[in-house]
Amino acid sequence: MNKRVYLDYAATTPVKEEVFEEMKPYFTEKFGNPSSIYSYGREAKQPIDVARTRIANAVGAKPEEIYFTAGGSESDNWAIKGIAFANKNKGNHIITTKIEHHAVLHTCEYLEKYGFEVTYLEVDEFGRIHLEDLEKAITDKTILISIMFANNEIGTIQPIKEIGQIARENKIYFHTDAVQALGNVKIDVDDLNIDSMSISSHKIYGPKGIGAMYLRKGVKIHSFVHGGAQERKRRAGTENVPGIVGFGKAAQLITENMDEHINHMMCLKDKLINGIIERIDFVKLNGHSEYRLPGNVNFIFEFIEGESLLLSLDLVGIAGSSGSACTSGSLDPSHVLMALGLPHEIAHGSLRLTIGSFTTEEDIDYVLEELPKIVQRLRDMSPLYEEVKGGQK
Ligand SMILES: *Cc1c(COP(=O)(O)O)cnc(C)c1O
Repeated sequence: MNKRVYLDYAATTPVKEEVFEEMKPYFTEKFGNPSSIYSYGREAKQPIDVARTRIANAVGAKPEEIYFTAGGSESDNWAIKGIAFANKNKGNHIITTKIEHHAVLHTCEYLEKYGFEVTYLEVDEFGRIHLEDLEKAITDKTILISIMFANNEIGTIQPIKEIGQIARENKIYFHTDAVQALGNVKIDVDDLNIDSMSISSHKIYGPKGIGAMYLRKGVKIHSFVHGGAQERKRRAGTENVPGIVGFGKAAQLITENMDEHINHMMCLKDKLINGIIERIDFVKLNGHSEYRLPGNVNFIFEFIEGESLLLSLDLVGIAGSSGSACTSGSLDPSHVLMALGLPHEIAHGSLRLTIGSFTTEEDIDYVLEELPKIVQRLRDMSPLYEEVKGGQK
């Protein structure tokens, strides 16, 4: 097979070998239903407790504050809808941002149809909210603030601790989508004043279809799935035992090796960013230089469509993303880039390359060799580029 380079770790990650090994017995010999009282059941229940503890430890929570879900999207839906409906008697106002993942944005839009009012905060050109805007948006009807920890497209990290403080002082619940942050940023739910939080396994080298919601003890929330008594009667359904075991192992590994992992990604990220800036003109790095996920690279290449760039990269085996995975296939520019204030035509030309555990220096070298050629070839077909180049001469 031709060379392939995967640079889309923000979309999903491969399952680590150690994670897969730990999951295996729970598909076959230890297949029992955790709710059963005989030995098969106990064999399947005990590893759930282990996984819950590992995940709690990864974010500074207590095991009983971790609820397993089917992933980040479900956790966002549950936290936001569940808290909104359970606290309706106190108010109907929610504050979020314009750059949230669609799991948050579409949930908020859904709630607007049921009598809730939502403020979508603006962000600055680097993708950060301003705390004064948040403070100004709070009313006596505000019951929930939902602001993502780190953005999946541009990698910008929000001032989470300060947001948590503002929420706490105003007695408003604070939810954060930390799917991209887990493993990339230190998370301590107490230190950061977080009341509920979404995390997902497949972004941290665990299996897909499993995630968790952290919910601080005492937060009022509605149950998400009604039925059996699983997850403290709040999310019914027989547990995804292999998934939970894999998620727990992945969370343990990522926290144990976090400094090393971050360092690895930072070095390669800087190499990639600097290499692109050196080799290609008319580029703009999106996101923040300091408050940025260690593996995130997001560039605008002027005069080029993100989609054509992706297709050309795919032909040489390089996997990246333009906009988010959820919007690829649609022709709308990314809502995140639009929120940065970029004009429509420029917001179309973005490329996100996200680095992870298995990325190597050779991978980055290969991209730095291929990308400039592709960009040049695509620009040579652009009349606008010819004009600008001509004007420069
Ligand atoms: C991937 C992602 C999600 C969705 O998680 P799933 O487990 O795929 O449902 C939510 N929020 C952010 C920021 C993400 O990157």
